[in-house]
Amino acid sequence: MSEVVLKSGKERSLLRRHPWVYATGIAQTVGRPLSGDTVRVVDDKGRFLAWGAFSPESQIRVRCWSFNEQDTIDAAWMAQRVHEAVARRSSLAARSNGARVVFGEADGLPGFVADRYAGQLVVQFLAAGVERWREALVDGLVAATGCTQVYERSDAAVREREGLESRVGPMRGDAPSAPIEIVEDGVRYGVDVLHGHKTGFYLDQRESRKRVAELAAQIGPSATILNCFSYTGGFSLAAMKAGAARAISVDSSADALAAAAQNAARNDIDPAAFECRISKVADAQRALAAEGQQFDIVVLDPPKFAPSAHHVDKAARAYKDVNLKGMRLVKPGGYLLTFSCSGAITVDLFQKIVAGAVTDSHLEFVLLERLAAGIDHPMRMTHPEGEYLKGLLLQRV
Ligand code: SAH
Repeated sequence: MSEVVLKSGKERSLLRRHPWVYATGIAQTVGRPLSGDTVRVVDDKGRFLAWGAFSPESQIRVRCWSFNEQDTIDAAWMAQRVHEAVARRSSLAARSNGARVVFGEADGLPGFVADRYAGQLVVQFLAAGVERWREALVDGLVAATGCTQVYERSDAAVREREGLESRVGPMRGDAPSAPIEIVEDGVRYGVDVLHGHKTGFYLDQRESRKRVAELAAQIGPSATILNCFSYTGGFSLAAMKAGAARAISVDSSADALAAAAQNAARNDIDPAAFECRISKVADAQRALAAEGQQFDIVVLDPPKFAPSAHHVDKAARAYKDVNLKGMRLVKPGGYLLTFSCSGAITVDLFQKIVAGAVTDSHLEFVLLERLAAGIDHPMRMTHPEGEYLKGLLLQRV
C-alpha cells in the first residue's frame, strides 16, 4: 500500500474530516500509486489520517474515502455507501420518480453522481477514485435501487482535470431510445439522458419548482410567469399545471425549448398559453420591457457564471445585470425567484449582488425566503464546497 505523507500543518483540514488533499500539501509519496489506487494518508510523524484515492494529474491529489483506519476500502465498502445514499432519499419517492441518488462527497463517494429517472439510472464518474471502482459502484446501485438500466454520462469537463477521458454509453441494459418520462409533484417531464444537460434534468430545482407552483396557485387563474434560462421549461410547467394563465420560457437553445413544448403537450397545457422564445435572455428582457410587459412571477436561473474563484468579479457583474433587467419585469406585488449555481459565489455574496440590483432598479423588494436544492443534494458539513445552488424569493412591494 502506497503512502502519502503530508507536510507539517497540512493535516489540519483532514483532522476536521475535509476529504481533499491538495498536491501542494504533500511532502512525499512512498510507493508508486497509479490513478485511482487506494493510498494511506499520514501526517509528518507517520500517524494515520485517512484512506483515499490517488489522482496523479489532479491538483486534488487525494480524495478521502474514510478517516477510520479499521475500514477496508473494497467493493463491499463502495456498495454500502451507495446503499446508504439511496436509503437517505427514500422519502422523496412519494413525490417524484426522479432523484439524485448519489451526490459525490456528500454521500462519501467523492466524484460519483447517480441520478434516477423512473427505471433508468444515469451515472457520472468525475474523479480517479470512483473511476477505479466504477463496476462495484454500479453493481451496488443496481442492488440498492432495483433498476437494471444504467447509462454513463461521464462527459463533464472536470474529468479532464483528473486525467480521464470523456466516456458515455450504456453500462447495464441498452441506451434509452427516447426521452424518459418522470412525474414530479404531479408534473410530467421528459428527460433526454443521452443529450440533455448534466444527466438530462435539473433535479436540484425540485423544491423551487414546487414553490413556483404554490405561488401560481395562490395568485390564481390570471397568474403569468416569465421563466428566464428555462431549459426544458421546468418552472413554466410547474406554474401552468398549478393553474397559471400564461408562461413565457426564454432560452438560447432551440433544442431545450423544443423539449419544453413537448413537455407542455405531455401535461395537456394549451400551446397558445405556453410561449417559447429562442433568445438570449438579455435581448428578451429588453424586448419585453419595450413591449411594457410585466409578470406575476419572474424566474432567473442562469448557467454557472463563475466556473471558479477567478471568475467571481466578472460573474457578479453578469448576475447583477440579469437581475436588474429581470426586476423591472415583475408586477407590483409579484415575485422574483433568482438563482446562482456558481459554487464560487457564496450565499452572502449572491444576496449582496441582488441587493445592489434592487438599489439600481429604484424598485422595492422584500426577501421572503432563501431557496436551495432538496434532500437529494445534501451538503456534508465537513465539505462546504458541496453547496452550490442558492436562490432568493423576493416580492416586489
Ligand atoms: N431553469 C432550468 C435550468 C437552467 S440551465 C431548469 O430548472 O430546468 C441554464 C439554461 O440557460 C440552459 O438551458 C442554457 O441553454 C441557457 N442559457 C445559457 N446562456 C443563455 C443566455 N445568455 N440566454 C438564454 N439562455 C441561456
